[in-house]
Amino acid sequence: RDNSSLTKMLIVFTVSGGGLVAYSEAKPDNGMNAITSTEADGKKKRVVVLGTGWAGTSFLKNLKNSSYDVQVISPRNYFAFTPLLPSVTCGTVEPRSIVEPIRNIVRKKKVDVRYWEAECFKIDADNKKVYCRSNFTTNLDGEEEFVVDYDYLVIAVGARANTFNIPGVAENCHFLKEIEDAQRIRRTVIDCFERASLPSLTDEERKKILHFVVVGGGPTGVEFAAELHDYVNEDLVKLYPKAKDSVKITLLEATDHILNMFDKRITAFAEEKFQRDGIDVKTGAMVVKVSDKEISTKEVKNGGNVSSMPYGMAVWSTGIGTRPVIMNFMTQIGQTNRRALASDEWLRVEGCDSVYALGDCATINQRKVVEDICAIFRKADKDNSGTLTVKEFQEVLDDICERYPQVGLYLKNRQMNSLVDLLKDSKGDVVKESVEVDLEEFRLALSQVDSQMKNLPATAQVAAQQGSYLADCFNRMEECEKNPEGPLRFRGEGRHRFRPFRYKHFGQFAPLGGEQTAAQLPGDWVSIGQSSQWLWYSVYASKLVSWRTRALVISDWGRRFIFGRDSSGI
Ligand code: FAD
Repeated sequence: RDNSSLTKMLIVFTVSGGGLVAYSEAKPDNGMNAITSTEADGKKKRVVVLGTGWAGTSFLKNLKNSSYDVQVISPRNYFAFTPLLPSVTCGTVEPRSIVEPIRNIVRKKKVDVRYWEAECFKIDADNKKVYCRSNFTTNLDGEEEFVVDYDYLVIAVGARANTFNIPGVAENCHFLKEIEDAQRIRRTVIDCFERASLPSLTDEERKKILHFVVVGGGPTGVEFAAELHDYVNEDLVKLYPKAKDSVKITLLEATDHILNMFDKRITAFAEEKFQRDGIDVKTGAMVVKVSDKEISTKEVKNGGNVSSMPYGMAVWSTGIGTRPVIMNFMTQIGQTNRRALASDEWLRVEGCDSVYALGDCATINQRKVVEDICAIFRKADKDNSGTLTVKEFQEVLDDICERYPQVGLYLKNRQMNSLVDLLKDSKGDVVKESVEVDLEEFRLALSQVDSQMKNLPATAQVAAQQGSYLADCFNRMEECEKNPEGPLRFRGEGRHRFRPFRYKHFGQFAPLGGEQTAAQLPGDWVSIGQSSQWLWYSVYASKLVSWRTRALVISDWGRRFIFGRDSSGI
């Protein structure tokens, strides 16, 4: 058999079946309002979804089975199209154009969906309850907390900005995660230009106010720096001609390059373009402190010199951290020292019954996968000789690919190829009859690649695919109960009900300003320039959640081409 046998994959999942529930308001012992089941009609299972971001909304949009009673809890009553947030910071696109009320999204569904504008602050998996705090004070007692019971819980609360506990970041920097953040940045940019135009300022003060610092050279930081550069040079300099020579944009990155998750050609192009545009890219510079006037950085190399630079506005975009409700839940279920909730390849939270975690708040636990893979080898090695026949070995590889599509694909591309090569002669024919499998060596090799095959990226693409995968599982719950479609259970009898989640990567974009975008598409296909910018426009327009937002965004782009960006800051 050749390598193609490794690509044969089946996917799986297990969740249990349904029952109807009606609701009544009650006061449990602790005095909190409760949305509890009376089991009156008794047939519908209660599904509680936390979050109305990419993962939660994709789950809701794709859920078609009307045998569920769905409650959505989120402090945000809308879905926001985050990839266009950087465009909102500079008025290229209006905030209203990229949001869709969640009630609009679920309105026409045949499934019962109710929405509560509240934040979940505690998950009690033992008693299948979530504790929520409303955004409002709801009655005269000032009570604003309530409890919701669930049969299935879908956690899709995303992540928060990560400050790495660096002093002064939370107090003095802007973040770019939510619509409100983008609006605040837009106002602050204009405020900086207005302040710098006041007659009483010295040149030095003006330069300080117009120094915009972006921390983090990932896709968001780079896109924001590029967008700001275009805004300043195409629109603001016409209105603030005296400010032109005082404006400076600095991009700080702790590693050696910006956009280091992209192909090297894209990184090099972006660095050169920014240099041409006058954006000062400082790599190897780690921020150690931010005061209201200065940002202090430490050189990662060259002896760790610390220096400070005055700034007018700083935007912090260095990655994501864990939300408090998730931290609290992880402590409760013994998943400490992790950034995100560990789930299995069916998106089930490890150690919890009927709880699923999707999107930025979750990761598939690869360490456990590595252990499982070693166990699969051990099981195949029946006589404990450390040697498998070629047939056994290939069956093991097939099993890994079927059970763990992500890891299987990774291994197929990297590790497994060299192992499979062991079996072949120079012509590619399988010549050996057996292969020695040193489990310790294999485990070591796997743990070394662990960091590379690590978790799926924290992107909208992953979150949306997970949401629609889980909805599909819920839609076919009964059908797959009768005819399970997953691989054989590793521990226990029979097959898994569903196939495991498999991520399909469709590529990623890095807009670099001046109508130039870099695109890295599957198969390491790289395209940079204006044609990719048009591809970016078309892909993002098509991915917007509704025809209303699509029309608004396209008209915003048209307005920007004709009249320029808005510079009122409101
Ligand atoms: P989110 O979309 O963040 O949604 C989380 C939801 O949970 C929100 O509705 C929130 O209000 C709610 N919530 C929070 N706390 C609670 C709580 N305690 N209880 C209940 N609900 C809660 N990805 C791409 O693939 N391509 C891009 O071009 C891209 N660009 C980006 C640009 C920016 C500026 C940003 C910030 C992100 C970008 N991303 C992009 C990443 C992408 O937005 C995230 O990976 C994606 O939003 C994750 O989806 P999610 O559903 O896990 O979380």
